[in-house]
Amino acid sequence: MRLSLVVPCYNEAENVIPFQRAVIQAFSGCGYDYEIVFVDDGSQDATMHNLRKLHAAQACPVKVVSFSRNFGKEAAVFAGLSHTSGDYVCFIDADLQQKPEIVRDMVRILDEQPEYDVVAAYQEQRAENKMMRFFKSGFYNLINRLSNVKLRTDASDFRTFRRSVADSILELGEYHRFSKGIFAWVGYQTCFIPYVACERAAGQTKWNFRKLLHYAIDGIIGYSTTPLHIAIYLGTLTGIAAVLYLIVVVLQKLLAGIDVPGYATIIVLILLLGSIQLFCIGIIGEYVGRTFEQSKQRPIYIAKEVLSYSEPKKPGESTSSSPAPDASE
Ligand code: UDP
Ligand code: MG
Repeated sequence: MRLSLVVPCYNEAENVIPFQRAVIQAFSGCGYDYEIVFVDDGSQDATMHNLRKLHAAQACPVKVVSFSRNFGKEAAVFAGLSHTSGDYVCFIDADLQQKPEIVRDMVRILDEQPEYDVVAAYQEQRAENKMMRFFKSGFYNLINRLSNVKLRTDASDFRTFRRSVADSILELGEYHRFSKGIFAWVGYQTCFIPYVACERAAGQTKWNFRKLLHYAIDGIIGYSTTPLHIAIYLGTLTGIAAVLYLIVVVLQKLLAGIDVPGYATIIVLILLLGSIQLFCIGIIGEYVGRTFEQSKQRPIYIAKEVLSYSEPKKPGESTSSSPAPDASE
């Protein structure tokens, strides 16, 4: 198998059939051997029904992994990745915002330029409002400052990469997954190409500000321990301020005989120090929570059903193809 397309789907009933059609159209006549690995991330609509139809028809090789509930896009791409067999793997969304023709260009780059292991698409222009752009660029600036891995500001998860990269990613079994950080962490030579994201073919985006904020926190906590040092910095700072203020108060009393009225100062200091302490405990809590989650060693997803297909036999190899229930990583 030359190429595996990993497609996470959450309530994408109207998109999966047009998506497959677009892929077949994009790859017709170019002689690539490819498969589509759809992951139904616990959809509540007819996504799985339509994926079953696609699997039964096998207009092109189709695998389907169906989750027992919604585990999130990161878990879905991980599940899809672990069911791929291609020499190249592509992460692409089901909503046709990312044109399959671009995947063909990505594959061509990997074919022609062996120095690259990953081809990642980035959006030259984003159809986002100013506030969203401000928060996103703030997040990237922050994470690049705090962490050792460097993320490219405008790069998306829309990428095609070699099997060696896929195997490296599969070795990272962390529960809280953050693809952009994972790609940066595993390294490899990456070629960035610009693309224009189209409008969603049907349905709605699954992201809102709250989810993006959680995702951003996952990214920062997962790839940096610098926030843990904030308690030390703030503690030192307030300590120095307290000593300076103490000197001022003592001098005022001794030299000028001024009695400093204390009520307002005490209230302000209690509130300030209390909030600094709670803030620092909150940061530590985020790390402890993630350590707790990871220590339970729960699987990243639970697949209640896997629909596979008979892959062409390689010489000296036996095939297994039947639909098999699977509760794996
Ligand atoms: N997705 C998923 N699980 C989720 C949320 C999203 O598998 O919990 C899939 C979704 O079906 C789509 C892709 O991830 O194929 C990108 O989601 P979406 O289009 O909502 O994100 P956006 O393009 O707006 O960033
Ligand atoms: Mg989308």
